[in-house]
Parts: sequence; structure tokens; C-alpha cells
Amino acid sequence: MSGWREVTARRPWRISAKLLIISSVVTVIGFSAICVNVMLDMRRGEEALARQTLENLATSIDADISRNIEIYDLSLKAVANNMLLPEIATVSKPVRQLILFDHATTARHFGAIQVFDADGKLTIDASTLDPQAESRADEDYFRIHRDNPDVGLYISRPMLFRGAYSIVLSRRISDTDGGFLGVVAGSVRFSYFHELFERLSLDPEDTITVLKRDRTIMMRRPFDLDIIGKNLGTQQQWKPDNLRAGGSYAGKGPVDVTPRLYVRSSGTGPLFVVAGKPLGAVFELWQKEAYRIGAVVLALIVFVLASTLVLAREIGRRADAESRLEEMATTDALTGLRNRRKFDSVIDIEWRRAMRQRTQIALLMIDADHFKAYNDTFGHQAGDEVLVGIAICISDSVRRAGDCAARYGGEEFAVLLPNTSAADAYKVAETIRAKVQGWSGGATGSTVSCGIASLAPTAGMDWPILVAAADKALYAAKAGGRNQSVVASLPQLSLVA
Ligand code: GH3
Ligand code: MG
Ligand code: MG
Repeated sequence: MSGWREVTARRPWRISAKLLIISSVVTVIGFSAICVNVMLDMRRGEEALARQTLENLATSIDADISRNIEIYDLSLKAVANNMLLPEIATVSKPVRQLILFDHATTARHFGAIQVFDADGKLTIDASTLDPQAESRADEDYFRIHRDNPDVGLYISRPMLFRGAYSIVLSRRISDTDGGFLGVVAGSVRFSYFHELFERLSLDPEDTITVLKRDRTIMMRRPFDLDIIGKNLGTQQQWKPDNLRAGGSYAGKGPVDVTPRLYVRSSGTGPLFVVAGKPLGAVFELWQKEAYRIGAVVLALIVFVLASTLVLAREIGRRADAESRLEEMATTDALTGLRNRRKFDSVIDIEWRRAMRQRTQIALLMIDADHFKAYNDTFGHQAGDEVLVGIAICISDSVRRAGDCAARYGGEEFAVLLPNTSAADAYKVAETIRAKVQGWSGGATGSTVSCGIASLAPTAGMDWPILVAAADKALYAAKAGGRNQSVVASLPQLSLVA
């Protein structure tokens, strides 16, 4: 008997539907977070790789341009210095050409070096001994050199010169006192940039922009005449803070709407290079991978959640069925009160609780009077109805949470009242008895007798003592004429004990 009592007393641990759903959702969230993190890591990796490639590209273009400009500038510097030699004025023209111009600067893409006097008139031309009359007095670079002695190498805006686009590189020729003697100028044709860019394998949407330090566009690939010569100094995205040397910037560029990753070269020459690649191309592979993994993860999540819901519903159904079964297993079918099995388990628990807490526990034993005679007279079914009526009278009178009303057997009922004195238990018994009498009235004349016992259990006592005492009191009630309640007296209790 103690075996099943243990089982009903301690609820076995069960996985509930709620717990299952929570653990599934937590798993799904955790799994998704890891996936998102991994995908973002991959994205960052792709971006870093693209940035590095673009930086290498920009820097190598920058290096090529800087080297060529430097070589060309050396020639300009040599001319500006040699123009001060007193012999220049006296030697013949061919010798003067030899003194002033070395042959390195006659390379392709570079225009012939020319010398202009203080009025802007062409005086010496590296390509011919007898240059045609020409004036540069109105050109920006001429005026700038005339008005500022310390400009050094000046690179002009791109301009159409002798039928081809080029940029003009110029230096001031100053006498020993700093006085203005004229300007020496040369040009770099755009064919140089075109050839330089053609050597690179670039996608059509990739951009290479060559800018002056003041952010004037000198050259751009894809080539577009409308943009060449524009100054981007005022453009928010290309402000020095957004695009420092060696830095990068992702977003819309100043020319078209395609968002790109732009990386600036880290060189220190007079020009710098910005290489751009559309963000769509940078993340193309990553995006494909992200969609693929995302779809798989989504499918897994849907599967997990769907199976969780199915399982949760099943668990819910089983729990319902179990609690219905448990309810059935502990309920008396005829009266709806607790059955004997449940009563035994409850009294066991309450008895020990009362022992721990040193409180009184009361028991009523209730028995229908002359019930055999009633059955014999009105039949078994009418007898059952009376039992149901008595059960209703009992449950109506027993309302405290810990109380337990049970059908003890046949036409006998037991009511356990934890934490209740004999006097209070007597009141409950009398209420029940009066209710039964009032309910049955004159029609059937059914009454009940009640035996009451209440005691505070001490160590060594077991609950059958309480049952026996209440039973004894019930006998006394029967002997005393029935339809009455009798409280077990202490001497009786000690006798039983
Ligand atoms: P007393 O006042 O001394 O208790 O007299 P009694 O006739 O009630 O005494 P007894 O215990 O001898 O009779 C019990 C009777 O209760 C026997 C049986 O006919 C009846 N009984 C027991 N269980 C049921 C039941 O489930 N349904 C019905 N209708 N009768 C039952
Ligand atoms: Mg009986
Ligand atoms: Mg009876």
C-alpha cells in the first residue's frame, strides 16, 4: 500500500508543453544568432578583402603616376635652373636645346617642354628650333606662377591642348633675386591614363578616379568628359574626413548613384587615386551564400517549430488524459467525492504535516442510519440516490482548501479536517447531520450518525489511531440512538493508543 501512496504523493517530473516550446524557441533564437553572427563575419571578411584589393590597386596606380610626374618635374626643374645660365643667351639654338632638354621627357604621352617669357610668349620649344608665336599669358598656371613665387610644381586642370586632352605641369623661372622670368611647362596626355587603366583588368562598373589634392577630378574611369575638371571639395561624401589617405568609404559616390566601396591610395604625390567597386559586386558571392544558408536555416527553424507545436499539442493531450485518468482514479464514481484510495493518501500526508507542525487533525466518520432497511424497502437504486444526497450535504458543508471528504466504503463517509479542534469538527458534523435530515425531510427519513475524533499527533503515533477513535465514536452515536454526533473522548483515545 505504501508503494502507490508514494507515487501519488510525489508528482513525477514531466516535460510540459510550455517547457518544450520555450526550449525550442530558445534553441531557435540561439541557433539563428550564431548563424547571423557567422554571416556577418563572412561579410566583414569579404569587405576587408575587397578593401585590400582596391587599396593595392589605387596605390599601384598612384605610384606609377607619381613616378612619372616626378621624372617629368625633374626635367622642368632642370630647365628652370638652366635658363639662368648666362651662356644660354649666347649659344646657338641646337646647343641650347641640348643644354635645356634631356631626352627622357620626350617619351610617349608627354608633351614637349616649352619655355614662356615673363609676358607669356613662347620662346623655346623642346620639339622645334623655331616655334610659332604663341601666348600663354591668359592661362591659369601662367598667372599663378607670375603672382606667387613659391608655388613649385603646378598641375593645371585638364584641358584640350593641341587636339588632345592633357594636364599641364609647370614651374616658375625665377632669377637669382626671385624676379619673374617666365614659366616652363609640359603636358601629360590623357592617353597616358587610358593606357595605364587598360593594363588593369577591371569590371565595367569599377571606377578609378585620379584627383588633385584640392579634389579636382583629373581623370576617371569610366571616362566621362563632363566630370573631368570638376571639383569635389564641396561633396559631403568625399570630404577629407570621409576619405583620408589610405582610408575607405562605402556608399554613393559623387558621380553616379551606384553605391560603391571607395578606397583612397596612401601616396603623398600631388595627385591621389581612388579606386571604387560596386557594393553589389563586393558582396555578390556573400549574398548568394547568405541566401543559401538563410534558406536552409529558415527551413530548419520552420521544421523545428512545427514539430515542437505538434509535440506540444500531443503532450498537452496526454497531460489532459492523464489528469482525467488521475481524477477518475481518485474519485468515487457514484458520489463524486474522493475515493478510499485518495483518502488514505491524503490522511497519510496530512497526518505527517500535523505531526511536523504540531497541529490538531480531525476526522469525521459518517454512516447512514438503518440503511439496510432502506435498501430493502425502496430498492438499491433509491439507496444509491440517498448516498448521492448525503455526499452533496457533506461537500456543501466542507469548504476549506485542505479538507478532504471521501466515500470510505458502502454507506460510510469520512471527512478529514486538518488543523481543526474537536469542537470545530463537531460543529461541521452537526451541520452535515442537520443538512441530511433537512434534505431527506419526511419523505425518506434518512439520517446519518457521526463519530468525531481530533488529536495532535506525536512521534510514534500512526493515523489508524485517528480512524479507530472516530469509528469508536460512531459506534457510540449508533448506540446512543442514531441521528447524532459523538466526539471521541480522550480516555477512549488513550485506550485505543
Ligand atoms: P446502521 O444504522 O446500524 O448503520 O444500520 P445499517 O442498516 O445502515 O447497517 P449496515 O452497515 O449493517 O448496513 C449497510 C447496508 O448499506 C448494507 C447495504 O445494503 C447498504 N449498502 C452498502 N453499500 C451500498 C451502496 O453502494 N448502495 C446501496 N444502495 N446500498 C448500500
Ligand atoms: Mg455501515
Ligand atoms: Mg449504516
